[in-house]
Amino acid sequence: MQNRRNQRGDDIPALMRAMRIHRLGPMDGRAAPLTADRVETPAPGPCELLLSVSACGVCHTEIDEIEGRTPPAKLPMTPGHQVVGTVVGEGPDCRLGLLHERVGVAWIHSACGTCEWCLQGRENLCPEFRACGRDAAGGYAEFMTVPETFAHRIPDGIGDLEATPLLCAGAVGFRALRLCRLENGQPLGLTGFGASGHLVLQMANHLYPDSPVHVFARSGEEREFALSLGAAWAGGTRDKPAGSLNAIIDTTPAWLPVLSAMEVLAPGGRLVINAIRKEDGDRQVLAELDYDLHLWREKAITTVANVTRRDVADCLRLAAEIPLRPHVTSYPLEEANRALAELRLGGIRGAKVLRVL
Ligand SMILES: [Zn+2]
Ligand SMILES: [Zn+2]
Repeated sequence: MQNRRNQRGDDIPALMRAMRIHRLGPMDGRAAPLTADRVETPAPGPCELLLSVSACGVCHTEIDEIEGRTPPAKLPMTPGHQVVGTVVGEGPDCRLGLLHERVGVAWIHSACGTCEWCLQGRENLCPEFRACGRDAAGGYAEFMTVPETFAHRIPDGIGDLEATPLLCAGAVGFRALRLCRLENGQPLGLTGFGASGHLVLQMANHLYPDSPVHVFARSGEEREFALSLGAAWAGGTRDKPAGSLNAIIDTTPAWLPVLSAMEVLAPGGRLVINAIRKEDGDRQVLAELDYDLHLWREKAITTVANVTRRDVADCLRLAAEIPLRPHVTSYPLEEANRALAELRLGGIRGAKVLRVL
């Protein structure tokens, strides 16, 4: 197979390294859910960019894909939806002048652009929404393609590795915070304190400086981390802060935190569930749902479905302004299986990122 050249004359190798999902099933007892493959380097189609990937974040959604809760559109599939890379090629009809730019790609890889949701700027709800690394090949590879209108310039001053968590945990967390409709001074709660929580806490402290942030987390290490980043209070899932909270963001895969959160929500408060899928492990706690305790007085529950391009762009801008620099632990691309296994175990602070270059 022949290498080809991009517009600048750089060599684009015909084959590239990719870590891919070949079959679905539980991760337990499977040391290597991803296979190291050499595959053909993709060519950008009309209005698409070719990226040379430098880093890709590792997300709990990859585990949901591997275990079949949000299965890939086809197999094998290259996962990865927090991608930072350099544009090394443009397909026909590209107009945005992004060649040689450093860009990021988030979970939203494309949407139709013409449906009622797309026209309202709620393209995350588009029926033809395609997810990066699930419906289109993602960033656990040396190269990938993306429509140019779904690539985001990364602001100067944010490194490749630290930019990746902003594209998922950061951007979706930013959307969750936006959906809270918080006013400065109103107390906010965060249930779960992983990759998203530690970013949302810092965004909330910047956007709503007078709002105390309360963090509910299982491990003492997470609670300490939250306090060190400026949380006003940190406790366990069933602990109760002194007063009620106007909004709570739940980033856990469990159901108990939903009940606990509804209980401490103020009248008219909102619970925003930021999780792609809830797991079935403690589903039985929902039988304890009590209308008066959990729902009465106009308490509302909503969910966050993915992200719009505006969320990603606004999150990147805010991160540059704060400045927000996510804590990351990096692994070489080939060690994606180890990164996923450690993510599943939990307990390590901040976000995991694959170094691809
Ligand atoms: Zn993600
Ligand atoms: Zn649409």
